[in-house]
Amino acid sequence: MPLSTTFRHRPEVVYRTEETSAGAAWVYRAACTCGETGPRRARWATANADLTAHLAEVAPPAEEQCRDQHGHGTQPWDACPLCAGQDALF
Ligand SMILES: [Zn+2]
Ligand SMILES: [Zn+2]
Repeated sequence: MPLSTTFRHRPEVVYRTEETSAGAAWVYRAACTCGETGPRRARWATANADLTAHLAEVAPPAEEQCRDQHGHGTQPWDACPLCAGQDALF
């Protein structure tokens, strides 16, 4: 999937049961709309840490971060095309 500056990452922790040698067990993993998925984890918190790490990895440089997340419908880790083309306000 091609990446662009307008691509939005919307990750979530997904989970399901899997058969293991010890029987059925819950397996958690971070999954993102960009196609990145984390490794299988035994704990939700660990998968959630993978998710947080992914967002830190994809966060744009400060000048491309949105300065009006409410108005532009973006998240802190999104590059905002509306804001990126503007000079900083201060
Ligand atoms: Zn992503
Ligand atoms: Zn913006």
